[in-house]
Amino acid sequence: MVKKVALLGATGSIGTSFFEVFREQKDRLQLSFVAAHQNFQKLCTLAMEYGIQSVALTGITDIAQQKHIRQSFPQLKLYFGESELIRLLGNEDYDIGLNAIGGSSGIGATFAILKHGKKLALANKESLVMGGHLVQKLKQPGQIIPVDSEHSAIFQALGQHPLSEVKKLIITASGGAFRSLPLDEFTSITPAMALKHPNWDMGAKVTLDSATMFNKALEVMEAHWLFDLPYARIEAVIHPQSVIHSLVQFIDGSLLAQLSSPDMKLPILYALSYPDRWSSVLVQTDLLTHKDLSFQALESSRYPLYYLGLEVAQAGGILPTIMNAAVEAAMQLFLIEKIRFIDIHPLVESAMQDARQIPSPDLETIVACNKDTYTKVLAKYT
Ligand code: NDP
Ligand code: MG
Repeated sequence: MVKKVALLGATGSIGTSFFEVFREQKDRLQLSFVAAHQNFQKLCTLAMEYGIQSVALTGITDIAQQKHIRQSFPQLKLYFGESELIRLLGNEDYDIGLNAIGGSSGIGATFAILKHGKKLALANKESLVMGGHLVQKLKQPGQIIPVDSEHSAIFQALGQHPLSEVKKLIITASGGAFRSLPLDEFTSITPAMALKHPNWDMGAKVTLDSATMFNKALEVMEAHWLFDLPYARIEAVIHPQSVIHSLVQFIDGSLLAQLSSPDMKLPILYALSYPDRWSSVLVQTDLLTHKDLSFQALESSRYPLYYLGLEVAQAGGILPTIMNAAVEAAMQLFLIEKIRFIDIHPLVESAMQDARQIPSPDLETIVACNKDTYTKVLAKYT
C-alpha cells in the first residue's frame, strides 16, 4: 500500500533528508502536499521537480508577493498563511503528516494532524515541550511516531514491552560543538563555531541547542510526553560518537539500544515504514569504523541550560513554553552578535525569574505566551 505523506518543513534539513528517502522509496510513498515558511523558490522548485500540486507557505503574508509567486508558478495550487496550512491539514487526503517545522511555530500543525486523526511523524519536539499535556489527552494510541533520533531509538527498543517492565530511559547526547572546549575559552565562541555540529548535519536552531545542550532538556521533555514516564525515570548521558541513539533499561537490568551511523534518514525512514521495515541502503553502519564507544556525564558548568531545562520540565505548565521562547530569542540575539554565547544562560534565567506559572495552559494561551516571551527577550537588546 502506498502511504500518502504531508511534508511540513520541506525546505529544511529534515525535509532534505526526507527527499532522499522519498527518492529511494518512491514505490511506497506519495506526497500529498508540502509546506514551508518563506523560502518559496526552493519549495516551489521542489514541488515542480516531484510533481506535487499543493504547496503551503505560512510566512508569505504580503499580497503583492503572493501574486508574484502565483504568476511565477501557475502550475501549482498555492496556499498562504498558517491558517491555510491548518485548513489543508484538516481537509486534505494524506495518511501521515511529517512535522519538520523548525521551532515553536510547529505546534499548530501537530494539533491539526492529531485532530484530523492522521498519523503524526514528529520531528518538531517543541510541540510536545509546549503542549505535551494537551497532546497526551488528544492522541490516539500509536498515533505519534517519533522522528527525533533518540526517541526513534527508544520507540524501537521498547517494542511491545509494557512500561511496568521499564526501569528508565537513557537519552544519549553528542555533547555538541563545545564538549571539549576549555571553559575559559567560552567567552570567545562565535556563531560560526556554534553552528558546526561535530556529528550531525542539522538546521541552525537544533545545532545551537546542541551546543548549549538545551536540546537534551527538550528531548527529556519530549520523552516524558511520548513514552508517559516520570522525569525521575529519564536521564541523559554524553556519548560523543552518536552511534548509540538511546537506550531503554528494563527492570531485569538489561539495556536495549538502537545503533547506526548518525544520519536522520534512518529515523525518517522508520517513522514512514512503521510498523514494517523497508529495505534501504541509505544508511550503512560499519562497526569496525566505530570501535570506541564512550560515555560521560553532563557537566553542569558546561551545560547550565540543560540543568535549568530539567528544573523547568519538572515545574511544567507554561514554564517550558516560556523557556523555549526565551532560548529561541537568546539564540537569535547570539546569531546577530548582540550577545555572547556565555550571555545566553543568564538571559534565559532572568526570563524564567520573571515568568508567571499557568498550570495547565490551553493552546491559545501557549501560542500567545510563546510570542510574548520571544518579543520581550528580543526587545532587551534590539
Ligand atoms: P531547519 O531550520 O533546517 O528547517 C525548518 C523548516 O521549517 C524549513 O522548511 C522552514 O521553512 C520551516 N518553517 C519554519 N517556520 C515555519 C512555519 N511557521 N510554518 C511552516 N514552516 C516553517 O530545521 P530542521 O530541519 O533542522 O528541524 C526541524 C524540526 O525537527 C525542529 O523541531 C528540530 O528540533 C527537529 N529535529 C531536527 C533534526 C535534524 O537533524 N535537523 C533532528 C531531530 C529533530 P523556510 O525554509 O521557508 O524557512
Ligand atoms: Mg535528537
